[in-house]
Amino acid sequence: MDSIILQAIKDNELQAYYQPQYDAVTGHIVSAEALVRWIKPDGTVVPPFQFIPEAENSGIVTEIDWHMAYQVCKLLDEQKRNNEQQFPIAVNFSRHHIREENFVQKLVELTDQFHIPHELFEVEITESAMVNEEEKILGWINGVRNAGFSVAIDDFGSGLSSLQFVKDMPADILKIDKSLLSHNCENEKERIVLESIFYFANRLKLTTIAEGVETKEQLGFMKTCGCNRIQGYLFAKPMPKTDFLALCRLNQQTNFDSDILGIQSPISAMELLMGVVFRKYPLVIFSNLTRNTYYMMAYENFTSRSCPSTGIFDELIVHGTASMHDEDKKIFSDAFNRLHLLQAHADGEPFVCAVTRQLGDDGIYRRVETTDYFVKSPSSDDVLVITLCDNLE
Ligand code: C2E
Ligand code: MG
Ligand code: MG
Repeated sequence: MDSIILQAIKDNELQAYYQPQYDAVTGHIVSAEALVRWIKPDGTVVPPFQFIPEAENSGIVTEIDWHMAYQVCKLLDEQKRNNEQQFPIAVNFSRHHIREENFVQKLVELTDQFHIPHELFEVEITESAMVNEEEKILGWINGVRNAGFSVAIDDFGSGLSSLQFVKDMPADILKIDKSLLSHNCENEKERIVLESIFYFANRLKLTTIAEGVETKEQLGFMKTCGCNRIQGYLFAKPMPKTDFLALCRLNQQTNFDSDILGIQSPISAMELLMGVVFRKYPLVIFSNLTRNTYYMMAYENFTSRSCPSTGIFDELIVHGTASMHDEDKKIFSDAFNRLHLLQAHADGEPFVCAVTRQLGDDGIYRRVETTDYFVKSPSSDDVLVITLCDNLE
């Protein structure tokens, strides 16, 4: 079999097909994946499942992958020469490459030979390659990324990767396996799992791609989960190079159906709700009066920074009081010192509120309404408050 495959490579029978990936919001092509097809002399197109597993077993698959990488470089080069828009293209690399000597150097040489900017070349490695190889693969991925290529974890959710691995994984892109998507994404448990994957991937700043999107219902749900890119038959099947080049030239916006409800997951609903809360209250503080601690979230850093500020509540009030107008300092510290708040809570007050003039960064005092709402946590008897600061001017 190995010699037949090597011969097929020589005879240029192993061809790269391209499947576009679409931005989930704009509907434009933003990237693509190269997928191998064996074109027999009689024109028969042999799909990869008929020869990749065997090539994988013998190891000859690495030759196929390099042949694909070469074709991708040629395509990007052709687009550049013709002054056409280029998109990052992903190539599948088998787990064998993890052991390949000088893999990164080889890839750099190949891409540099065609003057391909490295960010246009994505390296896909399947999740199943991670099993029992976690240490080795982390180093490999780091090496590839340090050379400027992006790395996508393919088939995420189909294999056995541990959450430990997900936490440490230095990849750029997470491709959610199509086996996680049922026909209409109608199963509640499936939806919860998908929502959670997209939620943690977004928070880990991984670009997400949903593979195998075939129905409008799946698309609608993926979009509401915050999925970044869509790859699937709903938009385009893998196609020969000439068709792909023609499609890129058009790059017409794909008409995403808009009649599907845009909010289908509790997480997306919560995020929208938080957006509204922050619109009125740019500063939200969660405090534990019993333990004298706080956790502050401001609109800008709520999603972009993973670590909103935390500290000691009493110090926060001292700091807050210092920023108040001289005539309002006492009003503020009387209302919001911890002992007063704890007493108000013991008296059954639902909230404590005060309007004071606060000095802004620009040196101007503005009237701010600060309200501390007492809230009950299901997991603790501590006295908790949520502070909402409303700028009245
Ligand atoms: P993969 O890398 O996960 O590629 C995605 C597969 O999903 C492709 O199958 C693609 O045609 C298919 N797909 C995309 N959208 C849909 C959809 O909406 N519905 C369905 N049912 N399928 C969809 P393909 O091209 O048959 O490739 C199968 C697998 O073979 C690939 O899975 C990859 O693991 C392997 N493969 C393909 N080309 C190469 C290659 O050049 N090198 C290596 N090492 N493996 C390759
Ligand atoms: Mg792939
Ligand atoms: Mg895949």
